[in-house]
Amino acid sequence: MIKNYINGRLIEPVSEKYFDNFDPATGTVYGIIPDSDERDIELAVSAAEAAFNEWANLPVMARSKYLLKIASLIQRDLKEFARAECVDNGKPLSLARAVDIPRAVQNFEFFASAVHGFASEAHQTEDDAINYTLRSPIGIVGAISPWNLPLYLFTWKIAPALITGNCVIAKPSEVTPVTAFMLSEACIEAGLPAGVLNIVHGFGNKAGKAISSHPKIKAITFTGGTKTGAEIASIAAPMFKKISLELGGKNPNIIFADCNYDKMLETTLRSSFRNQGEICLCGSRIFIEKPLYEKFKNDFIVKVQELHIGDPLELDTDQGAIVSKQHLEKVLSYIQLAKEEGGTILCGGNRFVPEGRCENGWFIEPTVIEGLPYNCRTNQEEIFGPVVTLIPFETEDEVLLMANSTEYGLASTVWTENLSKAHRIASALETGIVWINCWMVRDLRTPFGGMKSSGVGREGGLEALRFFTEPKNVCVKL
Ligand code: NDP
Repeated sequence: MIKNYINGRLIEPVSEKYFDNFDPATGTVYGIIPDSDERDIELAVSAAEAAFNEWANLPVMARSKYLLKIASLIQRDLKEFARAECVDNGKPLSLARAVDIPRAVQNFEFFASAVHGFASEAHQTEDDAINYTLRSPIGIVGAISPWNLPLYLFTWKIAPALITGNCVIAKPSEVTPVTAFMLSEACIEAGLPAGVLNIVHGFGNKAGKAISSHPKIKAITFTGGTKTGAEIASIAAPMFKKISLELGGKNPNIIFADCNYDKMLETTLRSSFRNQGEICLCGSRIFIEKPLYEKFKNDFIVKVQELHIGDPLELDTDQGAIVSKQHLEKVLSYIQLAKEEGGTILCGGNRFVPEGRCENGWFIEPTVIEGLPYNCRTNQEEIFGPVVTLIPFETEDEVLLMANSTEYGLASTVWTENLSKAHRIASALETGIVWINCWMVRDLRTPFGGMKSSGVGREGGLEALRFFTEPKNVCVKL
């Protein structure tokens, strides 16, 4: 049974109420989740308040050791964590083992060492003063994360907040809480001081809202949908909280005829359908230069039809279950919308029913659609599932206009062997990340985040360490 982790202990929610946790691959209830509310958040804030001074004043090396210990415990139990992530989210076990859980380990390891290179600035003012910047922890910070990469994104927020000396109140998505609970157990085993990290489970509009609106929580780091981000900002901004928002996307994938075709085709298959298309960085609008369009379309469909959908626990599964019934219905409604808008379904387009244990699970065939204008709803709104559209283009100007036409600006991918063109397009794309001839190659030192409605602020490397600290300028007159 999942419990809240508050003040170093695993405890029941104050309400003593729980709600169901579903296994998306079978569509059945397999656990219960604490239905926490503002009273649990209050307990967590009190615990964090009591822990703050000691944690903030620990030498950074000592905080680092805690993070490394937690990383080593997740690494030790990688198989159990990966299985739990697979069952809770519906993603293939192979993916959870190769990507999700290793990355959670890396998040702790990375920030445990990155902090040692985090130096503050000094400025000599003419010849009569020196300014230097002190950076202290903010205090108590809130972290709210989504269901698509559960432990991966949860720890991406928690690790930099802890290493910089903050105490954290964190809420995982109610849809995928299990690995966050397992993290609480790892923190207890690692001996993390009580109250430094508090993990509270529950619904976003109850437990999540209590975090974003609590006056003693001074900063919010959030990853999730754009609408939720706007709601959190509307509460946190008038309270002058620091906010970092990583939100939705509608990422363009731009393929020029002069690309390395085989590399592009293999990578585009992954960038379209990895994790059932439920990665904020997946390319959902594929723009193909006209001379290559028919060849790409035919070859791509063959590859998509070879993807193996089904039981996420089977190691040869490429595409698992959609995370929830509600999300399944949302994705199917967009496929229906695409048809109404005049799109042609080239492959997929339906709910998929595997044989055997997963026959009642929530699966959707990988779906490829063509024939839609760039500015229709299907091509403007985030679907966040295994659905991509194909759109031909003739000129650079035309593809840039279409690629930049959405409210989002998270990530983009460009395929060309022409170096000048690659740089030209990268500079004109309105996205926080541009991948040239690759996809999802991540260096944790780089600034990560989106433009426009895809977010505010950047995570990763020094950006995260700056976000979680309060700068103070000290000016010394010589
Ligand atoms: P949601 O916005 O629905 O939820 C995200 C988190 O916020 C969950 O923990 C949720 O709780 C919580 N929440 C919901 N309502 C509130 C509220 N009123 N106040 C405080 N917290 C709240 O997103 P999803 O979980 O559906 O995740 C999918 C979205 O995340 C997609 O739009 C995707 O693009 C985006 N995303 C962005 C990434 C990026 O880096 N830019 C990376 C990954 C995903 P609960 O679910 O428990 O109710």
